[in-house]
Amino acid sequence: MADETFDPGIVILDLSYMAAAILFVVGLKMLSKPEKARTGNLWAAAGMVLAMITTMLLHKDIHGHSIAIPNMILIVLTIVVATIIGRLIALKVKMTAMPQLVSFFNATGGLASGLVALIEFGNPDNSSLLVTLLGMAVGNIAFSGSMIAYGKLDGKIRDWYSPVMKYVNLAMIAILVALIVVIMLPGIDEGLSRILVYCLFAEALIYGVLFVMPIGGADMPVVISLLNSLTGVAAAMAGFIYNNQAMILGGILVGAAGTILTLLMCRAMNRSLLNVIIGAFGSHVSMAEKVTTGIIREISQSDTGILLNYSRKVVIIPGYGLAAAQAQHLCSELDKLLSERGVDVRYAIHPVAGRMPGHMNVLLAEANVPYDKLVEMDHINPDMMNVDVVLVIGANDVVNPAALNDPSSPIYGMPIIHAHEARNIIVIKRGMGKGYAAIENSLFFNEKTRMLFGNAKEVLQKLIGELKDL
Ligand code: NAP
Repeated sequence: MADETFDPGIVILDLSYMAAAILFVVGLKMLSKPEKARTGNLWAAAGMVLAMITTMLLHKDIHGHSIAIPNMILIVLTIVVATIIGRLIALKVKMTAMPQLVSFFNATGGLASGLVALIEFGNPDNSSLLVTLLGMAVGNIAFSGSMIAYGKLDGKIRDWYSPVMKYVNLAMIAILVALIVVIMLPGIDEGLSRILVYCLFAEALIYGVLFVMPIGGADMPVVISLLNSLTGVAAAMAGFIYNNQAMILGGILVGAAGTILTLLMCRAMNRSLLNVIIGAFGSHVSMAEKVTTGIIREISQSDTGILLNYSRKVVIIPGYGLAAAQAQHLCSELDKLLSERGVDVRYAIHPVAGRMPGHMNVLLAEANVPYDKLVEMDHINPDMMNVDVVLVIGANDVVNPAALNDPSSPIYGMPIIHAHEARNIIVIKRGMGKGYAAIENSLFFNEKTRMLFGNAKEVLQKLIGELKDL
């Protein structure tokens, strides 16, 4: 006898979610290799489109009702308008502003999850009160925290730190937990619980701001990936509220990937995750306006060309300035030219060089630099003493020896690329401008260092010309 509850639509829906899950996982896997990352992104996006279409057509609520036509029209309209806005933003935003864009998109994900939880609170069909409250809190923290991170990366918001912040933030977490516990008390008055839910909504928003405000200096990457994972967790919780497997899985994947990245970043920055959560680290160790002085030695284009041409081993250390100048293609051309002449050229990649995790890998992959030439910091450092020339292009904090030898420095403890150990150091930058952590760099005063001042793009262009003439 056929099962009366058998619904072929639900079976197709479940199968489509399984297909979407496979597409997410395969797509995510591809993202770990720069040459496959673009395709991986498309695969994961295809999974999401599949899940959205089948949900709209086949989803039924617990009473067996499909999505009403007016709601369907609203959903489609929202998708169309959001797609157009997203496309326009992505076309307008420069590559160097990508981290801000990522933070902004992350914020919208957090807000959406927070609002879903707010709307579904008190819905008799929603049986998961704890998940609803946690989803609201986590989504709102991710939203307001990501907006502050966006403002900081864009230079619109400055760090704001006070020693009491650590205690204020701990108190905020305690209040948040207390609100959730009280709202969940059995027999609590309905009106009171609704007021407390609004308080929780607002409290989480304020905590997100206070949590990110004190963080600055070289520590932003950690907080950005942490916020990313929080948005994933909030989305997974929203998925629990709707009992939607695709949403749960998508959220968990983002949350897990973000958490792994956060831990890797913590390791790269030599920070503990607890410090990140309490929100009291960064560039606040008093630097007492430390001034590094010494002699700055410059080098000409032609001398640089000769030095590079007659070197055996050259290591290029790319940093934010290379991205800002959009000089990655010229950098790759210089590399090819030297390699053709028998010079061993490699790139030293610091995990937080640039302004977003993996920034340098993406930048150099765009210029078709072979991936096997990119060497992770930990692998290249032991060989630095054997390098004839390091060419530091627009990097600053990631080669600052203060991280190794100045306990009062805000970046003290952060692993760096040991450019100072190479036989010759050439630094390409426009002037004596500071890096992201806004501190002096004694590498520029090192007696082995020669400064080649100018915009990275113009300098590299001239350098290539010099080499061709040799
Ligand atoms: P950096 O410390 O920010 O220094 C970049 C240097 O590039 C500046 O000193 C600047 O000096 C130079 N520069 C800027 N525009 C240039 C141009 N057009 N041509 C040539 N040089 C130019 O860069 P980094 O060494 O890559 O370090 C990254 C920093 O950002 C770290 O502190 C990291 O923690 C932080 N951060 C990273 C992430 C991430 O996820 N990767 C996210 C947020 C923050 P001049 O002005 O003198 O030219």
